[in-house]
Formats: sequence, structure tokens, C-alpha cells
Amino acid sequence: MPIILALDQGTTSSRSILFNEKGEALGMAQKEFKQHYPQPGWVEHDAHEIWETQFATLAEVLAKARTDLQQVAAIGITNQRETTVVWNKTTGEPIAPAIVWQDRRTAAYCDELRQQGKAPLLQQKTGLILDAYFSATKLKWILDHTPGAREQAATGQLAFGTIDSWLIYKLTGGAVHATDVSNASRTLLFNIHTLQWDVELLELFDIPASVLPVVTPSAGVVGECTIFPGARIPIAGVAGDQQAALFGQLCTEEGMVKNTYGTGCFMLMNTGQQAIASKNKLLTTVAWQIDGKTTYALEGSVFIGGAVVQWLRDELKVIHSAPDIEKLAATVKGSEGVYVVPAFAGLGAPYWNAHARGALFGITRGTNHAHIARAALDSIAYQSADLLKAMQADARIPIRELRVDGGATANDLLMQFQADLLDCKVVRPEITETTAMGAAFLAGLGAGIWKDQQELSKQWKSARVFDPQVEASERAILLKGWQRAVNATIAWADDRNS
Ligand code: ADP
Repeated sequence: MPIILALDQGTTSSRSILFNEKGEALGMAQKEFKQHYPQPGWVEHDAHEIWETQFATLAEVLAKARTDLQQVAAIGITNQRETTVVWNKTTGEPIAPAIVWQDRRTAAYCDELRQQGKAPLLQQKTGLILDAYFSATKLKWILDHTPGAREQAATGQLAFGTIDSWLIYKLTGGAVHATDVSNASRTLLFNIHTLQWDVELLELFDIPASVLPVVTPSAGVVGECTIFPGARIPIAGVAGDQQAALFGQLCTEEGMVKNTYGTGCFMLMNTGQQAIASKNKLLTTVAWQIDGKTTYALEGSVFIGGAVVQWLRDELKVIHSAPDIEKLAATVKGSEGVYVVPAFAGLGAPYWNAHARGALFGITRGTNHAHIARAALDSIAYQSADLLKAMQADARIPIRELRVDGGATANDLLMQFQADLLDCKVVRPEITETTAMGAAFLAGLGAGIWKDQQELSKQWKSARVFDPQVEASERAILLKGWQRAVNATIAWADDRNS
């Protein structure tokens, strides 16, 4: 029976998971690695440590599951996106620490570009918002601040890559320098319409074309893993973590949407073959490219999702552990007009207000910690509802259901409230390892283990469906209250200089 090895390289840990051809997980290994914060707002990873932890988990999972290398038919890779590595092509050595997606060191440079009026051009070509998150300004920073880097780049000695590229390079013993389209589409250098590195953008960011990886489809063999003597395993599927999760949820048709409820929330909608330009501050991105067909997605994120539960636990200390929130919140029938707007780090799409801060509204003499817990939990669903509304407005595609994954989806109360707010089914799948699953699906398609996406659709099974249970009038009241709370939060932020 062929086995697929999925490598899931995340922001705080590296994981390896084995799947069989029925899509069942056979084993998993995980290792955390160090986060470096050299200055306020800076976040770095050691690319060596990323590789070492990834390799260690890969070896561990094979040993634990007693899997012979000959049984591994394909490797799939999914990764933290946008994080930038630059290495020397001859020595294979990174020339600087990897700059992580969260790193804000290039924010001022992004402001400069915005003042020069570059944001619309970037959005039109890349589908992204001009922001320090994306790779281009990080790459420029490394080239500008590492002694000798510009000279080395000019003579073709340097390679740039996101984490997928770095892992492919290491797995192939330095033979392949490639990235998949979904990862390329997060760099601010890749034209998502022509599906090529964009010459005008390379000039804008002063990036020499010689550092760029070859862009490959998301499914298909990009190279062979040669690090184990006597075994050559095809690397046959690659996608950034959120795109992989969309695929792992088998949201393979236009209008299908998934939301991941972790520390933050990430919602992606499959928009089929159209790259839809957002009017609501969402991102347009490549979801994947399979068999020459490119699928696009709209993406939005909530900065504080499950993190609001951690706040109740660690700062307010009203619960001991995250799952406790469900019992506490269930002791009241509803938040009774209390709203928590957890804009601890500003508000994301569709509002984008960096100056907003958290707020609590509607408190009365009878409000207790259960109401606040309930309102905090509700806020995860309200913020996700805002995203979905924005997506529907941009895409004009009606949606039938929301597929969910991530740690906070264990919370039935939250899932039910989400269905109530959206007035559509919320579906929780059996396998919640959707990111790794997506990488495995892509690799299995790429290696010919599964014939096509149709065959894959048998692999996805729902574990529980939450149907909407409130009347339209009740929903309207709830949403109106949330909107007032957000409006007031924004008004408070915008009034700070008057
Ligand atoms: P990440 O991948 O971002 O680390 P996870 O998918 O592991 O996140 O989910 C962890 C998040 O989910 C935490 O923020 C935690 O507070 C929240 N969480 C975990 N269990 C529950 C629960 N039962 N109810 C609500 N939130 C929860």
C-alpha cells in the first residue's frame, strides 16, 4: 500500500505525518523550534533549525510507524508562508536569518511605497495588499543589509526562497531551486494573472531575477528526495499552509469556503478560474495549479481568534484551560447584549484599522464573567461572519456551507453560533489535520496515487454538521449589535488625535 509523507513546516513547529491511500493518518511527529526576536517588531528563524527539526520529525515518524522508505510513494510539502530565506547556491549556507512573515521591520519602507502611490499597481498584479508581511520587502532587506549580498546576487550566487523552496532544496541535496505557484503568489513579486515573476515589480523592489526559484504547479513531481541512500522519493505536491488547508478540506469547487479557527482565523474561498479583485480589502491569491488549470481564492484573516480565549485564560483568569470556556459560556443563554471586540492588535479585513484596540460594550449591573466569556467566544464567530460577508460581496457567489478546522472548532457552542450567524451549514470534518492532508492530497495526485480530484472527494468525511437554528429577526438583532460595537471601536480609534 503506498504511503504519502506530508511535511508541515509551521511557524512554531515542524511536523511530519504519514497518510495511506485512504487518507488515514498513520503517524505523526512534531518538533518545536526557536523564535528569535532580536528587536521589537522583528521575528527571525534559523533556516538550519527549520531543516533540522523537519528532518528529525521525518525520520521519527518513519521509525515510529515502522515504515520502510520503499513504501513512501511521494512527499508533500506545506509551509508557513511568506517567510524569506536567502542562501548561497554553492555552499548551500543561508546568508542571514530567515525573516518571518510576522516581522515588521520593513513597514516604514512599505509606507514609503504607499506614499509613492504603488499600492494599486501591486494589488492589481499580485492580488495582495502592500504590507511588510509579504516576502518582497524582506528579500530586499536581506540583500541590502547583508555584507556582500548585492555583489553575490549580481554574479548569480544567491538563491531566494520561501520555506517550501528551502525544504525542496535540502531534500533534493541542492539539485532543485523551485517554489509552487501558491507560495510564489505571496511574495509581492509574482503576477497572478500571467503566472510569472513580474519584471516591473522586480525593478521596483530592486530584486535581481537570478535569485528567483523556478515556479512549478502545486501537484506534480518537482524533484526527488535523495537524502536517504538507496531511495529516491518524488516530491510531488507543494502548497502554502492556508491553500493546502483549502485543498485538504476538498473545497475544490467554486464557492466552497473553509475557515481555520486557531490563534487567528484564516478564511479562504475557492473562486474557480477567476482572480477576483477585492473591493473589501481581502487578498486575491493562487489557490493551486493542477493539470495546467489554475484555481484562485479570496482570503481574509481575523487577527485575534482563539487568542481571545487565551486572553480570558491568561489575563482575566476566568478559565483554567481553553476548552473550559464552553462550559462557562453555556451557563448563560446568550451574552445578553454584551459585546467583546477583541481588536487587541487592530482590526483586519474588511475594516483594516491598525489603531483600533479591544473594547467591551453593553455591560449592565447584572453582567458577570460568563456573559463576558460568551461575548468573547461570540466575537470569533462575528469576525468570521464579517469576512464571509465581504467574500460574498466580492465574489457574488452564494455559499452552501462553511468547512471548518483548527483548535477552536472543538467548541460546539462556537460552531453552532457560527451557523446561526451565517445562516448556512457549518461542517466539521473527521480529519482535522487538513493542512497536512492537503499536502498529501496534492502529492498523491502529483504522483498518480489518486487519479483526479473526483477520486479524492471520497476521502473527505464530515464528522458533524451544525445547522442554523435562529430566526432571521434574531440574527439581524445580533449582527446589528456587533456592527454598532465595531463602529464604536473604530470611532474611538479615529478620534485619538482630535
Ligand atoms: P494554532 O495553529 O494557531 O496554534 P490551534 O489550531 O492549535 O492554533 O488552536 C489553538 C487555539 O484554539 C488557541 O488560541 C485556543 O485558545 C483555542 N482553543 C482551543 N480549544 C478551544 C475550545 N474548546 N474553545 C475555544 N477555543 C479553543
